[in-house]
Amino acid sequence: MATELSEHHFGGVLAAFDGGRFPLDAGASKVLRLMLERPEGCDAVLRPDGFEVRFGWSPSRHRYNLAAGPQAVSYLLDLAQAAAGAIEVQAVVGPATVAALDGDAWSFEARRVWLTRSTSSVAIAVRRTDANEPPRSLRPFPEPIDYPPPSFVELSSAQFCPACGALGSRLRQLMTGFLVCSACGGSFQAPH
Ligand SMILES: [Zn+2]
Repeated sequence: MATELSEHHFGGVLAAFDGGRFPLDAGASKVLRLMLERPEGCDAVLRPDGFEVRFGWSPSRHRYNLAAGPQAVSYLLDLAQAAAGAIEVQAVVGPATVAALDGDAWSFEARRVWLTRSTSSVAIAVRRTDANEPPRSLRPFPEPIDYPPPSFVELSSAQFCPACGALGSRLRQLMTGFLVCSACGGSFQAPH
């Protein structure tokens, strides 16, 4: 559900397309790292009601704090050298290194990125590429498949993963009772 705050963050995402720049903070750096570091890539959608990412290595959707949106999008548009006011951008970005904010510096190899805006949503796709490859059309990931789940719990309120910030309410639970973040694979103690 969109709130006044989330509408505000989405406004920042659109402002980035119009040339606004929002310096990276640690939270946005974590989300970008998940989106760019691994070669499997991702498909992401930002809307006034949230920021959702499907990674190439996981069939489920992960929700992130939309507050990271303006920073993540302006970082990608900057690397892509997008013109202010662009509606559709395709570019090869990287290899690049993101300076340490509150964790380690991290790097990513060349990635092909697609960014598309409308008034109500922004779509981002990231795929591996080699720098000499000509522009190509995007192949979205296939729809999520169900695979036999180990053990899952439904939380009454969604929890942010302490490691990567992904929001989840249905999480795999280990025999120790710890919950597993499906975005980064980190485990953390179940809330009481
Ligand atoms: Zn996580």
